[in-house]
Amino acid sequence: MCRHLAYVGPSTPVGSLLTQGPHSLRTQSWAPREMRGGGTINADGFGVAWWHHPDAAALDHGPGVIWHGGAAGDPAETSPVSTGPVVSRYRNHVPIWTDPAVDEVLPQIRSAAVLAAVRSATAGMPVERAACAPFLHGGWAFSHNGAIPEWRGVLTSVAAEFGSASLLDAEALTDSAALWVILRGLLDVGTEPGAALRMVAGAVLQRSPRARLNLLLGDGSGVWATTWHHALSVLEGDGFVVVSSEPFDADPRWRPVEDRRLVRVRDGRVSVEPLDIEIGRAG
Ligand code: GLN
Repeated sequence: MCRHLAYVGPSTPVGSLLTQGPHSLRTQSWAPREMRGGGTINADGFGVAWWHHPDAAALDHGPGVIWHGGAAGDPAETSPVSTGPVVSRYRNHVPIWTDPAVDEVLPQIRSAAVLAAVRSATAGMPVERAACAPFLHGGWAFSHNGAIPEWRGVLTSVAAEFGSASLLDAEALTDSAALWVILRGLLDVGTEPGAALRMVAGAVLQRSPRARLNLLLGDGSGVWATTWHHALSVLEGDGFVVVSSEPFDADPRWRPVEDRRLVRVRDGRVSVEPLDIEIGRAG
Protein backbone atom coordinates (compact mmCIF):
# COMPACT_ATOMS: atom_id res chain seq x y z
CA MET A 1 0.00 0.00 0.00
CA CYS A 2 1.10 3.43 -0.70
CA ARG A 3 0.94 6.83 0.94
CA HIS A 4 -0.24 9.94 -0.87
CA LEU A 5 -0.77 13.63 -0.36
CA ALA A 6 -2.31 16.69 -2.05
CA TYR A 7 -1.75 20.35 -1.25
CA VAL A 8 -3.52 23.52 -2.37
CA GLY A 9 -2.59 26.94 -1.01
CA PRO A 10 0.02 29.64 -1.39
CA SER A 11 2.94 28.90 -3.66
CA THR A 12 5.40 26.64 -1.84
CA PRO A 13 8.48 24.61 -2.79
CA VAL A 14 7.34 21.32 -4.34
CA GLY A 15 10.18 19.48 -2.59
CA SER A 16 9.05 20.59 0.83
CA LEU A 17 5.74 18.75 0.44
CA LEU A 18 7.80 15.56 0.29
CA THR A 19 10.15 16.31 3.18
CA GLN A 20 8.39 18.72 5.49
CA GLY A 21 7.52 17.71 9.06
CA PRO A 22 8.86 15.02 11.40
CA HIS A 23 6.56 12.51 9.66
CA SER A 24 6.97 13.72 6.07
CA LEU A 25 5.91 11.69 3.06
CA ARG A 26 9.57 10.65 2.72
CA THR A 27 9.61 9.42 6.33
CA GLN A 28 6.28 7.66 5.78
CA SER A 29 7.93 5.74 2.94
CA TRP A 30 10.11 3.78 5.36
CA ALA A 31 8.28 4.29 8.68
CA PRO A 32 4.55 4.51 7.96
CA ARG A 33 2.35 4.48 11.06
CA GLU A 34 -0.97 3.41 9.66
CA MET A 35 -0.39 0.66 7.14
CA ARG A 36 -3.51 -1.45 6.77
CA GLY A 37 -3.94 -4.48 4.58
CA GLY A 38 -0.35 -5.58 4.11
CA GLY A 39 2.88 -3.89 3.16
CA THR A 40 5.51 -2.51 5.50
CA ILE A 41 7.44 0.09 3.56
CA ASN A 42 6.83 2.15 0.46
CA ALA A 43 10.09 1.59 -1.38
CA ASP A 44 8.90 0.95 -4.94
CA GLY A 45 9.22 4.50 -6.16
CA PHE A 46 7.48 7.80 -5.83
CA GLY A 47 6.10 10.65 -7.87
CA VAL A 48 5.08 14.25 -7.55
CA ALA A 49 2.92 16.44 -9.78
CA TRP A 50 2.64 20.21 -9.62
CA TRP A 51 0.71 22.80 -11.56
CA HIS A 52 1.94 26.03 -13.09
CA HIS A 53 0.62 28.66 -15.44
CA PRO A 54 2.09 28.61 -18.93
CA ASP A 55 1.69 32.33 -19.61
CA ALA A 56 5.11 33.33 -18.27
CA ALA A 57 6.73 30.63 -20.38
CA ALA A 58 4.75 31.78 -23.41
CA LEU A 59 6.57 35.13 -23.36
CA ASP A 60 9.87 33.50 -24.23
CA HIS A 61 8.35 30.63 -26.21
CA GLY A 62 9.47 28.31 -23.43
CA PRO A 63 8.21 24.87 -22.50
CA GLY A 64 4.72 24.37 -21.22
CA VAL A 65 3.20 26.13 -24.23
CA ILE A 66 0.86 24.37 -26.60
CA TRP A 67 1.62 25.43 -30.18
CA HIS A 68 -0.77 25.00 -33.00
CA GLY A 69 -1.01 26.00 -36.60
CA GLY A 70 1.86 26.09 -39.07
CA ALA A 71 4.67 23.68 -39.53
CA ALA A 72 6.70 22.46 -36.63
CA GLY A 73 9.84 24.53 -36.31
CA ASP A 74 8.35 27.53 -38.08
CA PRO A 75 7.73 30.05 -35.30
CA ALA A 76 6.20 32.58 -37.68
CA GLU A 77 3.31 30.22 -38.31
CA THR A 78 2.66 29.25 -34.71
CA SER A 79 1.05 30.94 -31.78
CA PRO A 80 1.06 30.04 -28.13
CA VAL A 81 -2.31 29.17 -26.66
CA SER A 82 -2.87 29.64 -22.97
CA THR A 83 -4.55 26.51 -21.66
CA GLY A 84 -4.98 27.23 -17.95
CA PRO A 85 -2.76 25.51 -15.42
CA VAL A 86 -0.37 22.96 -16.85
CA VAL A 87 0.63 19.94 -14.81
CA SER A 88 4.20 18.65 -14.69
CA ARG A 89 5.60 15.62 -12.94
CA TYR A 90 8.70 13.91 -11.63
CA ARG A 91 8.73 10.16 -10.92
CA ASN A 92 11.34 7.56 -10.10
CA HIS A 93 10.95 3.85 -9.34
CA VAL A 94 13.68 3.86 -6.66
CA PRO A 95 12.99 4.47 -2.97
CA ILE A 96 12.34 8.16 -2.42
CA TRP A 97 15.10 8.37 0.20
CA THR A 98 17.71 7.40 -2.40
CA ASP A 99 16.87 10.09 -4.98
CA PRO A 100 18.95 13.28 -4.61
CA ALA A 101 16.48 15.26 -6.74
CA VAL A 102 14.20 15.41 -3.71
CA ASP A 103 16.68 17.62 -1.84
CA GLU A 104 18.59 19.14 -4.74
CA VAL A 105 16.07 19.90 -7.49
CA LEU A 106 12.45 19.75 -6.32
CA PRO A 107 12.93 22.46 -3.65
CA GLN A 108 13.75 24.92 -6.49
CA ILE A 109 10.30 24.50 -8.03
CA ARG A 110 7.37 26.36 -6.52
CA SER A 111 3.70 25.64 -6.98
CA ALA A 112 0.34 26.42 -5.43
CA ALA A 113 -0.91 22.86 -5.97
CA VAL A 114 0.97 19.59 -5.51
CA LEU A 115 -0.04 15.91 -5.55
CA ALA A 116 2.49 13.26 -4.51
CA ALA A 117 2.71 9.54 -3.72
CA VAL A 118 5.18 6.93 -2.47
CA ARG A 119 4.55 3.40 -3.72
CA SER A 120 4.57 -0.09 -2.32
CA ALA A 121 3.84 -2.26 -5.34
CA THR A 122 0.99 -4.72 -4.90
CA ALA A 123 2.23 -8.33 -5.23
CA GLY A 124 2.52 -9.31 -8.86
CA MET A 125 2.61 -5.75 -10.21
CA PRO A 126 5.69 -4.31 -11.92
CA VAL A 127 8.16 -2.05 -10.18
CA GLU A 128 8.82 0.57 -12.83
CA ARG A 129 8.58 4.29 -13.32
CA ALA A 130 5.40 4.09 -15.41
CA ALA A 131 3.62 2.38 -12.50
CA CYS A 132 4.36 5.22 -10.07
CA ALA A 133 1.59 7.69 -9.32
CA PRO A 134 0.69 10.40 -10.00
CA PHE A 135 -0.84 9.49 -13.34
CA LEU A 136 -1.58 12.50 -15.54
CA HIS A 137 -4.15 13.36 -18.20
CA GLY A 138 -4.98 16.84 -19.43
CA GLY A 139 -4.70 19.00 -16.33
CA TRP A 140 -5.51 16.11 -13.97
CA ALA A 141 -3.27 14.14 -11.61
CA PHE A 142 -4.35 10.90 -9.91
CA SER A 143 -3.12 8.49 -7.26
CA HIS A 144 -4.59 5.24 -5.92
CA ASN A 145 -3.70 3.81 -2.52
CA GLY A 146 -5.05 0.28 -2.39
CA ALA A 147 -5.51 -2.79 -4.51
CA ILE A 148 -8.25 -4.42 -6.58
CA PRO A 149 -8.34 -8.22 -6.32
CA GLU A 150 -8.83 -9.83 -9.75
CA TRP A 151 -8.28 -6.40 -11.27
CA ARG A 152 -7.97 -7.51 -14.89
CA GLY A 153 -11.42 -9.07 -15.09
CA VAL A 154 -13.01 -6.55 -12.76
CA LEU A 155 -11.74 -3.48 -14.60
CA THR A 156 -12.41 -4.95 -18.04
CA SER A 157 -16.02 -5.32 -16.98
CA VAL A 158 -16.18 -1.81 -15.47
CA ALA A 159 -14.62 -0.34 -18.62
CA ALA A 160 -17.28 -2.04 -20.73
CA GLU A 161 -20.03 -0.63 -18.49
CA PHE A 162 -18.71 2.93 -18.84
CA GLY A 163 -17.70 2.69 -22.50
CA SER A 164 -14.09 3.48 -21.53
CA ALA A 165 -11.09 3.49 -23.81
CA SER A 166 -9.17 0.24 -24.05
CA LEU A 167 -7.34 -0.75 -20.89
CA LEU A 168 -4.38 -1.41 -23.21
CA ASP A 169 -3.98 2.38 -23.04
CA ALA A 170 -2.94 2.04 -19.40
CA GLU A 171 0.56 3.31 -18.80
CA ALA A 172 1.52 0.24 -16.74
CA LEU A 173 0.12 -3.22 -16.07
CA THR A 174 -1.30 -2.27 -12.69
CA ASP A 175 -4.77 -1.93 -11.21
CA SER A 176 -4.15 1.79 -10.54
CA ALA A 177 -3.07 2.64 -14.11
CA ALA A 178 -6.04 0.73 -15.57
CA LEU A 179 -8.41 2.43 -13.13
CA TRP A 180 -7.08 5.78 -14.37
CA VAL A 181 -8.04 4.94 -17.97
CA ILE A 182 -11.63 4.45 -16.79
CA LEU A 183 -11.71 7.49 -14.50
CA ARG A 184 -10.14 9.90 -16.97
CA GLY A 185 -12.72 8.85 -19.56
CA LEU A 186 -15.46 10.03 -17.20
CA LEU A 187 -13.61 13.30 -16.53
CA ASP A 188 -13.17 13.87 -20.27
CA VAL A 189 -16.93 13.92 -20.78
CA GLY A 190 -17.34 16.46 -17.99
CA THR A 191 -18.42 14.23 -15.09
CA GLU A 192 -18.07 16.14 -11.81
CA PRO A 193 -14.85 14.75 -10.26
CA GLY A 194 -16.42 13.65 -6.97
CA ALA A 195 -19.24 11.95 -8.87
CA ALA A 196 -16.68 10.26 -11.13
CA LEU A 197 -14.80 8.84 -8.12
CA ARG A 198 -18.07 7.63 -6.63
CA MET A 199 -19.14 5.95 -9.89
CA VAL A 200 -15.83 4.20 -10.38
CA ALA A 201 -15.57 3.06 -6.75
CA GLY A 202 -19.16 1.78 -6.86
CA ALA A 203 -18.66 -0.18 -10.06
CA VAL A 204 -15.42 -1.74 -8.78
CA LEU A 205 -16.80 -2.67 -5.35
CA GLN A 206 -19.85 -4.26 -6.90
CA ARG A 207 -17.54 -6.70 -8.66
CA SER A 208 -14.65 -6.87 -6.19
CA PRO A 209 -16.00 -6.34 -2.66
CA ARG A 210 -12.59 -6.53 -1.05
CA ALA A 211 -11.13 -3.78 -3.22
CA ARG A 212 -9.26 -1.08 -1.31
CA LEU A 213 -9.87 2.25 -2.91
CA ASN A 214 -8.30 5.37 -1.47
CA LEU A 215 -8.37 7.53 -4.58
CA LEU A 216 -6.85 11.01 -4.85
CA LEU A 217 -7.46 13.41 -7.73
CA GLY A 218 -6.40 17.02 -8.34
CA ASP A 219 -6.73 19.61 -11.10
CA GLY A 220 -4.52 22.38 -9.76
CA SER A 221 -7.20 24.07 -7.67
CA GLY A 222 -9.55 21.34 -6.43
CA VAL A 223 -8.81 18.04 -4.71
CA TRP A 224 -11.10 15.02 -4.53
CA ALA A 225 -10.42 11.91 -2.46
CA THR A 226 -12.08 8.74 -1.24
CA THR A 227 -11.45 6.60 1.80
CA TRP A 228 -12.21 2.94 1.36
CA HIS A 229 -10.15 0.87 3.78
CA HIS A 230 -7.00 3.00 4.11
CA ALA A 231 -6.19 5.98 6.34
CA LEU A 232 -6.57 9.64 5.31
CA SER A 233 -6.29 12.93 7.20
CA VAL A 234 -7.06 16.52 6.29
CA LEU A 235 -5.33 19.68 7.48
CA GLU A 236 -7.29 22.86 6.89
CA GLY A 237 -4.91 25.75 7.60
CA ASP A 238 -4.95 29.49 7.04
CA GLY A 239 -5.48 29.62 3.29
CA PHE A 240 -4.18 26.14 2.57
CA VAL A 241 -5.41 22.55 2.68
CA VAL A 242 -3.47 19.29 2.82
CA VAL A 243 -5.08 15.89 2.26
CA SER A 244 -2.65 13.15 3.31
CA SER A 245 -2.63 9.45 4.14
CA GLU A 246 -0.97 10.37 7.44
CA PRO A 247 -0.42 13.72 9.22
CA PHE A 248 3.16 14.84 8.55
CA ASP A 249 3.44 16.95 11.71
CA ALA A 250 1.80 17.56 15.07
CA ASP A 251 -0.40 20.47 13.91
CA PRO A 252 -3.58 20.14 16.02
CA ARG A 253 -5.72 21.04 13.02
CA TRP A 254 -5.21 17.61 11.38
CA ARG A 255 -8.49 15.69 11.31
CA PRO A 256 -8.74 12.00 10.43
CA VAL A 257 -11.26 11.21 7.69
CA GLU A 258 -13.56 8.31 8.51
CA ASP A 259 -13.61 5.28 6.30
CA ARG A 260 -15.99 5.23 3.32
CA ARG A 261 -16.02 8.96 2.70
CA LEU A 262 -15.75 11.31 -0.27
CA VAL A 263 -13.65 14.42 0.36
CA ARG A 264 -13.87 17.53 -1.80
CA VAL A 265 -11.60 20.56 -1.53
CA ARG A 266 -12.80 23.54 -3.55
CA ASP A 267 -11.89 27.21 -3.08
CA GLY A 268 -9.78 26.13 -0.11
CA ARG A 269 -12.78 24.63 1.71
CA VAL A 270 -13.11 20.98 2.69
CA SER A 271 -16.33 18.99 2.59
CA VAL A 272 -16.69 15.34 3.56
CA GLU A 273 -19.68 13.18 2.77
CA PRO A 274 -20.46 9.48 3.17
CA LEU A 275 -19.55 7.25 0.26
CA ASP A 276 -22.66 5.12 0.33
CA ILE A 277 -21.90 2.25 -1.96
CA GLU A 278 -23.65 -1.09 -2.23
CA ILE A 279 -20.92 -3.67 -2.23
CA GLY A 280 -21.16 -7.02 -3.97
CA ARG A 281 -22.44 -10.17 -2.30
CA ALA A 282 -19.08 -11.52 -1.14
CA GLY A 283 -18.48 -8.32 0.87
N1 GLN B 1 -2.04 -1.40 -6.41
C1 GLN B 1 -1.27 -0.22 -6.66
C2 GLN B 1 0.12 -0.54 -7.18
O1 GLN B 1 0.57 -1.63 -7.13
C3 GLN B 1 -1.18 0.67 -5.43
C4 GLN B 1 -0.36 0.03 -4.37
C5 GLN B 1 -0.57 0.54 -3.00
O2 GLN B 1 -1.48 1.27 -2.62
N2 GLN B 1 0.31 0.08 -2.19
O3 GLN B 1 0.75 0.33 -7.65
